Amino acid sequence: MPIESFSILIDGQWRASADGSTFRCTSPFNGEDWAEVPTATTADVDAAVAAARRAFEEGPWSSSTPLARAGLLRRLGDLITQSATELATVQVRENGKLIREVADQAKALANHCYFFAGVAESPIGETLATSVPNMQAFTMREPIGVVALITPWNSPLMLLMAKLAPALAAGCTVVVKPSEVTPVSTLVFARLIKEAGFPDGVVNVVTGAGETGATLVAHPGVDKISFTGSTSVGKQIAAKAAARLARVSLELGGKSPNIVFPDADLDNAVNGVMAGIFAATGQTCMAGSRVLVHDDIYDDFAKALATRASQIRLGDPSDPASEMGTVACRAQYDKVLRYIDIAKAEGAVLAAGGKRPDDPALEKGLFVEPTVFTEVTNDMRIAREEVFGPVASLIRFRDEDDAVRIANDTSFGLAAGVWTRDIALAHRMIRRLRAGTVWINNYRKVNYVAPFGGFKESGIGRENGIHAVNEYTEVKSAWIDT
Ligand code: NAD
Repeated sequence: MPIESFSILIDGQWRASADGSTFRCTSPFNGEDWAEVPTATTADVDAAVAAARRAFEEGPWSSSTPLARAGLLRRLGDLITQSATELATVQVRENGKLIREVADQAKALANHCYFFAGVAESPIGETLATSVPNMQAFTMREPIGVVALITPWNSPLMLLMAKLAPALAAGCTVVVKPSEVTPVSTLVFARLIKEAGFPDGVVNVVTGAGETGATLVAHPGVDKISFTGSTSVGKQIAAKAAARLARVSLELGGKSPNIVFPDADLDNAVNGVMAGIFAATGQTCMAGSRVLVHDDIYDDFAKALATRASQIRLGDPSDPASEMGTVACRAQYDKVLRYIDIAKAEGAVLAAGGKRPDDPALEKGLFVEPTVFTEVTNDMRIAREEVFGPVASLIRFRDEDDAVRIANDTSFGLAAGVWTRDIALAHRMIRRLRAGTVWINNYRKVNYVAPFGGFKESGIGRENGIHAVNEYTEVKSAWIDT
């Protein structure tokens, strides 16, 4: 297969990197290099930030009305709908996620545009009762300025859109730095930005590895960094941003508990736990990787989960019949296998999977069998550290207090699931769990309406919902002597 070449987007122009350097993308399914992408240099980052600054301060964007921005977002939404198949296919090629998972996600990207178009048009600001004689005060929200959007590889376009749509609705300009594992989908998507008619410089895309991201984060022309990725890189970004008090939003890792009480509908709970940990080959920030199961049902539940896990059909991610695809890249694949070894050495009991599949048809791909460990305790590394792969750890609990204690005994706080038919228990658990999202009798429901983000080391700030636009604005108060 010939290797396809791509360019970065700076100030509305498609360019090679300043020194001509490139890197290659490798298919996680067949191991072949298939795309060549520029490695953006410091000069490219400078040019992208300068273009975003000009567009923010001088160009037509600087005086754009909310109505005009909403119109452009709606046009982008329509173009996404027309291109959804292409956007889905390129992501499958990049990260080995199933076409049947990504196809719906690609169509849903348009909804972000339509929702945030509506938010852009909604009136914002408050008139304040000051209690000071003859003084009138009010607030308004203004765009923060130039924002760096740095994204990971697991859902490249959905995670980009969760930042881009509210940033554009707010009136910011952006420099996007996609993951080096999945840069092509963002570059293909950027064609639609141009076609929709956004002014030059409003959206710029630079590609490269962590160094390109670090250059962007350190750039004094960047007013805010909105980052989705690992907690370790998130901490580095927060530290660097603190030096000049640049704003940050951080969507980071998780070790989310999925808690099954004995009164739950157990078939539903098994399905929910499966979706919680095995969707996207376990490579989701919200993965329900710690499965807390009540003592009374633990053995039966573990047996049912292990049986179902071993029946999952691994295969070509572009085949709609496949039920689990590959891990996205070699480094992540090695990490998942390493954690499986760590869990065994810690005394966890392997109940399903635990290795790459024997099927010769899959031998070139980065496949890992859906893996279930039982008799995990919450102090083991497999229960404390994010694996980001198809590995479920089953932990026993005695009662509600025990479940809450174990669930909250983590440095993360992204999400939690609870399976019970007891409505009062469900409400208590929502209050008691220290996580940004709690799902009752479902898992992994996320869309543009409900704020999503982490407690503790799972992040700072919220994406989705009306709150998301606030992440890209500053509040200004005005006082008028009447
Ligand atoms: P990562 O942190 O390695 O990389 C994320 C992005 O940051 C990439 O674009 C990378 O090139 C860039 N980067 C790396 N080092 C950098 C640096 N020093 N300065 C600036 N940028 C840098 O994460 P990943 O492996 O791509 O993604 C997996 C992680 O993302 C997991 O931890 C997962 O939980 C997290 N994630 C979180 C959410 C969420 O919404 N909370 C969603 C998806 C993924």
